Parts: sequence; C-alpha cells; structure tokens
Amino acid sequence: MSPCRRRWRTTARCRWSRPRSRRPPDEPRADPEEVEELLGDPGDPGNPYGFAAAVARDEADAPPDELCRTLVAAGFHLNYLPREWGGAFDTFDRGLTLVRAAARRDVNVMPGTMFSIIAATCLRLHGGEAQREQVARILTGGGSVGFALTEAAHGSDLLAGEVRLDADGRLHGEKWMVGNGLRCDALYVVARTGERGPGAFSAYLLDPGADGLVREPAPRTGGMRGVDTARVRFDGTPVPADALVGKVGEGLEVAVLAQQAVRLMSMAGSLGCADTALRLTLDFAAGHQVAGTPSSRRRTPAGSWPSPRRRCWLRTRWRWPPPGVHVVPEAFSVWAPAAKHVVAEACEELVRRCAAVLATRSVLREGRRARDCSRSFSATRRWCG
Ligand SMILES: Cc1cc2nc3c(=O)[nH]c(=O)nc-3n(C[C@H](O)[C@H](O)[C@H](O)COP(=O)(O)OP(=O)(O)OC[C@H]3O[C@@H](n4cnc5c(N)ncnc54)[C@H](O)[C@@H]3O)c2cc1C
Repeated sequence: MSPCRRRWRTTARCRWSRPRSRRPPDEPRADPEEVEELLGDPGDPGNPYGFAAAVARDEADAPPDELCRTLVAAGFHLNYLPREWGGAFDTFDRGLTLVRAAARRDVNVMPGTMFSIIAATCLRLHGGEAQREQVARILTGGGSVGFALTEAAHGSDLLAGEVRLDADGRLHGEKWMVGNGLRCDALYVVARTGERGPGAFSAYLLDPGADGLVREPAPRTGGMRGVDTARVRFDGTPVPADALVGKVGEGLEVAVLAQQAVRLMSMAGSLGCADTALRLTLDFAAGHQVAGTPSSRRRTPAGSWPSPRRRCWLRTRWRWPPPGVHVVPEAFSVWAPAAKHVVAEACEELVRRCAAVLATRSVLREGRRARDCSRSFSATRRWCG
C-alpha cells in the first residue's frame, strides 16, 4: 500500500484547505492528485475503483459501495461539511475539484458521498441546534440525509406541491426521486402547511422509520445506474412538534436557496463525465487510423474534435463561478443556475463530439465506458432541475 493511501486510511479527519506544498507535515489532507493515487490506475481491469469495475457495476445497476467506503474512510465526504460540524469544507471551487476527480471514476460517488449537501445546507440555514447536531453526527459518520422536495406530478412547479401536513400533525402524500431515499438515516421533507403562495410550505426533519412512512425504489434510471432515488409515501405519518425545521412557512424559500449550492456542486458530475469521455477518446484516437492517418491528426469527421472553446470551459472557465459565490454571495442565485447550465451545455457538446470520433465504438456494449459516460452525464444534468 502506498504511503499516501496508508495516510488516508489512518486519518480520522482530513483537511482540504491548502495545497500539498504549503501544508504543514502533520496536517493530513488530500488534493485531486491524492484522490487519483488513492483510487489507483483507472485503466487497470483488476482495480475495483477503475473503469472496468464501473462498467460492471453499471451493467448490474449496482451502486459503488466499496468505492464510497474507501473515499469515506479517507475523509472525502467531510469536504462538503462545515468545520463547526466536524467537516473540512473550505471553498466551493476546492470541493468541486475534488468531487470532479472522484466522479471521473464513477459519477455515482456523488450520491454515495455528498448528495446530502442539500439537506445539510438547509439545516445550516435554518436548523435548530439539536437538529444540526443530529445531522452533523450522521454525516460526519458517513451516513446520509435525504431531501424530499420533488413530486412526480409537479417537478419544477414547486408551488403545486401536494404533500400536506393536516391539522392533527399527520403527513399525507408522496415525494419521488429522493436521493438516497432508501438508505438515508434522516429525511428532510418540504410539505404544504398553508393554502397559497411560497409561504404555504414548511420543512420537517423526520426519522425514516416513522409510522406510516413507506420507502420504495423509484423508477430505475438509464444513466447514473444504481443511484438510490426512492419514492417516499406518507400515509398519515405523525410529525412530532420538534421535527419542524426553522419557522412555519419558510420551507420552500430555504429549499430554493440550498439548491443553488447543489447546482454548483453538480457541475463536478458533468465535468467528471466529460473528463472521462475525453480521456477515453484521446486514448482511442492515439492508436486508431482512419484511411492511413491517425485519428488524432485528422480533421474529419468534420468538426468532431471538441472545440478549443469547449476544452477551455473544461480546463479553466468553470472555475470562475464557484469562488465568486464567496466573494459576491448576493449573486449566488443567478450564477449557480447559469454556471450549471453553461457547463452542462459545454460538456454535452464535448461528449457528443467524443462519440463522433469514437464512432462505432461509442455504441458497442463491449468496453462500453463511452456510452456510460453519456448516459450518466444526462442523469447528472437532470439532477436539481
Ligand atoms: C439523479 C437525480 C437525483 C435527484 N434527486 C432528488 C432529490 O434528492 N430530491 C428531490 O426532491 N428531487 C430530486 N430529483 C428530482 C429533480 O430535482 C427534478 O428532476 C427536477 O425538480 C425537475 O423536475 P421534472 O424532471 O419533473 O421536470 P419538469 O418540472 O416537468 O420540467 C420539464 C422541463 O420543463 C422546464 N421547465 C419547468 N418549468 C419551467 C418554466 N416555468 N419555464 C420554462 N421551463 C420550465 C424544465 O427545465 C425541464 O426542462 C432528482 C433527479 C435526478 C435525475
């Protein structure tokens, strides 16, 4: 085992704030290169954290449990948790770079290690002290907290939400696509408590084992296979008074605010898929010839190589919005969806162009990493609207 891997394994908590060169020797931390080292050679067919293993999991609709356990043991998940909760969050751009490095292996590391960022952000914004402590304990220990906002019939039309708390304090209705819904240790639910407008919703932190709370697998996804996105049904679930998070009527406002953080982090998934698509395509093109000319030197099929503008987005420009959040937080609500959209568009075009270079190889089930990248990218893009 490499010294780096041993250090990660024996570390109770990791620190992510400074580059390796400026880190005091006694401060165990990780940067993207260390994530790569920890996970080993992605091209090694025997590596449980490599591409071949990811393809096998995809075929079996299996989540990357072992990969996530290794990352959690190394303290990877602490990266999105605030320091006062025992985490190691430093800046969005740093966190995003780390998640991107892990997502290159398998984008399902995101549900496995950091999907709870939405619920955690909500709790940070308006949770009581005991609720924050509970959630901090779950998350630093590697557990998860589900975020139940979306309903099948309404999607983005949040004001139409039907899950409702009745006058007797019981919850009725159904949420779907709840990330980690089957596995989570606590559930943050946004429910209707009033009649009209954005103030008609409140948030509750529930025990997923509560009476009348039924969790079922959601329809399977074509990309990000193996992701746990449950249906959660409330059949008159009793809601204790201390489950209310914040004040009555502020559930929707806080959920919408928290989603900006998730939108930024979701860029890591898009970028991770695009990185892998590009790596795969370059490897292929370096050894493949079309009519006697190496693929990598051909200008045809016309315009297939990702344009310099797209590659520039991949390499550098995506970095602008995340640090901006710390500098001008008031622009957060505009920058986050805009950045998510532009990065997703750039990555989508890049993945499409990579498929054009790979041609037949992009659709073969054998060595199917290219197809997985494109499907997983689509699912990542749909996450969080
Ligand atoms: C992998 C994954 C994980 C997820 N995890 C969670 C989770 O943990 N918790 C949770 O609550 N939800 C989760 N979701 C659900 C996700 O947040 C929803 O997909 C999202 O709310 C969009 O809903 P919808 O797909 O029903 O789209 P719809 O609301 O039906 O929208 C369809 C299209 O119309 C567009 N549109 C919608 N409204 C407007 C408008 N007013 N003007 C113009 N265009 C509009 C949308 O952008 C979209 O392109 C997850 C989804 C995925 C794929």
